[in-house]
Amino acid sequence: MPEPSSPDPGKPEIYDLHCHSTASDGSLSPTAVVQRAFERGVTALALTDHDTTAGLAEARLCATAAGIKLIPGIELSAQWQKQCFHIVGLGIDPDYAPLAEATHLLQGTRMCRAEKIAEKLAQKHIPGALEAVMKAAGDGMVTRSHFADFLVAGHHVDSQQDAFDRYLAKGKPAYVATPWAELAQAVAWIIESGGVAVLAHPLRYNLTANKMKKLLAVFKEAGGQGMEIVTGRISPDEIRRAAHFAKSFGLSGSMGSDFHSPDQWVELGRLAALPTGIQPVWELLD
Ligand code: AMP
Ligand code: MN
Ligand code: MN
Ligand code: MN
Repeated sequence: MPEPSSPDPGKPEIYDLHCHSTASDGSLSPTAVVQRAFERGVTALALTDHDTTAGLAEARLCATAAGIKLIPGIELSAQWQKQCFHIVGLGIDPDYAPLAEATHLLQGTRMCRAEKIAEKLAQKHIPGALEAVMKAAGDGMVTRSHFADFLVAGHHVDSQQDAFDRYLAKGKPAYVATPWAELAQAVAWIIESGGVAVLAHPLRYNLTANKMKKLLAVFKEAGGQGMEIVTGRISPDEIRRAAHFAKSFGLSGSMGSDFHSPDQWVELGRLAALPTGIQPVWELLD
């Protein structure tokens, strides 16, 4: 547990508003994520596990001890026009009943999908996936990252990315279409729980400019207020593109590493500044 520190009013906050723990597909416990963020100078952290808030209580305890501000978050999987998008909820209330029910149902959805992915892998002569991913996920959400790790460990692929490219991504042999909630529903759960809905890593969906504009219009109409502009692996040119979309649609800008594990080169809190002229999403948080 880090030593408590008192916030220095003269110092700017260092934000990281997107990261994962063992409650989903991160490799560090919520405590270890908060500790690592603290050690890297982050002063305001949102833990945003996939479809679950189960890590927030533990993260809160550690954050209080360390003197870091913990923003309760989630990264909800949602669908729009048959594509999956990730919506980050910031400042949510994990006890808000419809959101809590949704995460409970999503656990079942993810388990069901995992069984089907494992069946598909078995058909490709790769047995034992379900047992392995359930063991790896423990009490946390089962994700495709767990399958990717299993495929790497069994030397079926060279890397996590290779696992997606050869087996797990859309159109690949072990891909399973999943009935995620509609985008507008996911946004509603976040807003109604008191949170701000932020479109995660908007440039990672490979959308044409036209489709991106349609998506942002639908997202905004549903009550979405922000989009990620600075993410862990983004070029200055991509930051400019994302900022352009945010300005056109009157969306605030968020920044988050999408940290999953110390093995990745994405690190907590190591993020470029938001471009000028973009309203920081944290100004919308209490
Ligand atoms: P899911 O279980 O479908 O929510 O996937 C969880 C994780 O898989 C996310 O954290 C992504 O980082 C990762 N992921 C999803 N699609 C890809 C992809 N095409 N290539 C690499 N990683 C991916
Ligand atoms: Mn993930
Ligand atoms: Mn995501
Ligand atoms: Mn993420």
